[in-house]
Amino acid sequence: MKNISILGSTGSIGCQTLDVIRNNRDEFNVCALTANSNIDILYKQVLEFDPDIVVVADYEKYKEFKSSIASYNKHIEILHGEDGLNCAATYEKTDIVMSALVGIAGLKPTYSAVEKGKTVALANKETLVTAGRIVTNTAKEKNAFIIPVDSEHSAIFQCIDRNREFISKIILTASGGPFRKKTAQELKDVTLSDALQHPNWNMGKKITIDSATLMNKGLEVIEARWLFDMAAQNIQVYIHPESIIHSMVEFIDGAVLAQLGVPDMKIPIQYSLTYPERIVASDSKLDFSKHNSLSFGEPDTDRFPCLKLAYDALLDGDSSCIALNGANEVAVSLFLQGKIGFTEIYDMVAKVLEGHSKININSLDDVFQVDNWSRNVALELYKKR
Ligand code: NAD
Ligand code: MG
Repeated sequence: MKNISILGSTGSIGCQTLDVIRNNRDEFNVCALTANSNIDILYKQVLEFDPDIVVVADYEKYKEFKSSIASYNKHIEILHGEDGLNCAATYEKTDIVMSALVGIAGLKPTYSAVEKGKTVALANKETLVTAGRIVTNTAKEKNAFIIPVDSEHSAIFQCIDRNREFISKIILTASGGPFRKKTAQELKDVTLSDALQHPNWNMGKKITIDSATLMNKGLEVIEARWLFDMAAQNIQVYIHPESIIHSMVEFIDGAVLAQLGVPDMKIPIQYSLTYPERIVASDSKLDFSKHNSLSFGEPDTDRFPCLKLAYDALLDGDSSCIALNGANEVAVSLFLQGKIGFTEIYDMVAKVLEGHSKININSLDDVFQVDNWSRNVALELYKKR
């Protein structure tokens, strides 16, 4: 029986992690659940999974949750804020921490888990985008094991299990998002509801917008750099609209291994929890008779320049990746609030990066210094526009 802490249990990855656990109750026990503010969903999860620790990050919602759960007669520790998240991430009993917060909010608790030498199932890509060097070095030092959950990185992880030293190239596949066929002119007029319609995956709002701009693939290139210790020039992106091949690895002898499956996050989530074993999953089987062809194309970085911005940031260094991420989080949030247009996401991130003066990144404090700077500059740009 493995004990699981889920950071971000009320989100898309968090709820699907609980689906996997619900189907395998004799394999997994839930020992901590955390949410930001969605206490209605959290309440139901607590009644069903009976964790030892529950965290509501938002203080007002925490107070509300505490009083609503007062009649529940089992002992649960109810915590709030950053300290609460860190407790859930480092809980003694926990075997695997599912890191499924969105944005840089996931960095500190994920780092705490790594520092404690936990096994981390990592969905929160922003952790490696902003602090990949620090987190992977600490993982080595503390013997913490990071298992990727992001479907592309899970695919690569599955392909390289015994061949790690012979990799020549990583090929990340991308669906191309809902706007794959739109012209540059048409992209100027797309709406929020258009952008929220992903063709193949049903995900949280932030990553859905990142998928539409292709920034998500850019963040995944940076994530792959740290997970697999690969140079940017050996990480390639191909548009593969069917989302059947989740990514590929080319080896020095020219052999290419790919991992395939239906686009269902429950597969990589389950694998991150069962690794190195596999267990039966009843649904999610690939039916080849329904797929006559699989297609591939080069990404168009003129129409989707966010991908190039991310590659450039990776080549430029750690500080630029943090600035890219911070500006993107602000821009996506403004777009989700209907305050800026779709193509302004790129404009904002590009302008922030233009004004960025690199600093050396040696600690999480350095990471948050650059993150704060880029957020403030992005908000200033919005106010002045
Ligand atoms: P989501 O928005 O659906 O859920 C985010 C979770 O984090 C929620 O439980 C929310 O309460 C919590 N949260 C948000 N802000 C917080 C804060 N400031 N403090 C504490 N808790 C906070 O997001 P998601 O789609 O599940 O994505 C989670 C992560 O996984 C992201 O980094 C995303 O890029 C990555 N990912 C998601 C998918 C997917 O299919 N959804 C696929 C691959 C990778
Ligand atoms: Mg992905």
